[in-house]
Amino acid sequence: PEFSPGYPARAVVDLSAIRDNVRALRAAASTAQVMAVVKADAYGHGLLPSARAALAGGATWLGTAQVAEALRLRAEGVTPAQARVLTWLYAPGAPFEDLVAADVDVAVAAAWALDEVATGARAAGSPARVHLKVDTGLGRNGLVPGDLAAALDRAAALEAEGVIRLVGVMSHFALADEPGHPTVRAQLDVFDDVVRAVEAAGFDPEVRHMANSAATVTNPQTHYDLVRPGLAVYGLSPVPQLGPPGDYGLRPAMTLEARLATVKRVPAGTGVSYGHHYTTTQETVLGVVPLGYADGIPRHASGGALGPGGPVLVGGGLGDVAGPDAGPGTARVVRVAGRVCMDQIMLDLGPYATEQAGDVVTLFGAGDGLAHAGGPGAEDWAQAAGTISYEIVTRLGARVPRVYT
Ligand code: PLP
Repeated sequence: PEFSPGYPARAVVDLSAIRDNVRALRAAASTAQVMAVVKADAYGHGLLPSARAALAGGATWLGTAQVAEALRLRAEGVTPAQARVLTWLYAPGAPFEDLVAADVDVAVAAAWALDEVATGARAAGSPARVHLKVDTGLGRNGLVPGDLAAALDRAAALEAEGVIRLVGVMSHFALADEPGHPTVRAQLDVFDDVVRAVEAAGFDPEVRHMANSAATVTNPQTHYDLVRPGLAVYGLSPVPQLGPPGDYGLRPAMTLEARLATVKRVPAGTGVSYGHHYTTTQETVLGVVPLGYADGIPRHASGGALGPGGPVLVGGGLGDVAGPDAGPGTARVVRVAGRVCMDQIMLDLGPYATEQAGDVVTLFGAGDGLAHAGGPGAEDWAQAAGTISYEIVTRLGARVPRVYT
């Protein structure tokens, strides 16, 4: 695919990677169904193309936080026969009638929501499918176990009236990315108690689900009937301290690349970018990359006196990678020089650079990342910016063209 002439940067999303990652997750959780979590525009990868690729890989459910994204899946043609859709985050006044009419399952995390969902279902003329979302220890959205009995009484009355069906019980981990952490077992124990209480109250939920990506790939005890991976669907490691994506049969779907806007030779002692936090130590070649913090490049990934700087692969494909002073034409990784600006970053390409304006450079892409002898990955940018790979991909600017292969 070509670059847009008016925007010389792009995120290339390899949909076959998303499909294959879901296949790998299905194999990892072979006794459960897979819900591909496609919230936040499919972690920046594009909602609809990513959702369809995940379904092609065998996901049978799609999950979003925001109601608007769940409705968009249906409006843009994901049918109930193709996928169950679950949404779990909203405030009073949410369009529950539309959700029921669109055949979207709704998680209920507070007593008020049960009554609003029921009102919506009455208006839609069919029962709402409800998943009880329980806070087993994350300390975030969800019914605390102490509020469960009252919620189950209310749910029983609404189910008897025929306006809701309690089809799921769900929860979410606080520390699944630290396998073996005692809170994982503690949350499972609370969840098992909750499921027993739900069953004792006469319900027979179709799906119990807890596992995010980290739990899916590290702990079969968390799988239950359905797993809910997000990050791993896009091929990023949910436990980067334990292993790169390849260790879990995953490969990153997104490659972020741009064409050099300017290449110029400058003398030693040249201050680079706002604040002059980087100064050249020799005569060298600077390259300007047309991506900046308005595109989601973290300003915390500035380089020079400010830190290591985000890594950029220049001079070739994602193959062999040499140091910054490598000879002409060699593929090598250089670091952001000085401040990340709103629309651009600067690179010190080294004295032997042969790059020209228009050449393509890669900020991150497929492969296991710099620590594992691959080209730079989203995880490497996360480390340079003091954040997590989730934030690198989800904050990619809406203005960056997504191109699908
Ligand atoms: N389930 C819920 C309720 C979530 O909020 C999220 C995302 O944070 C996920 C599943 C997917 O998590 P991950 O991307 O870590 O797999």
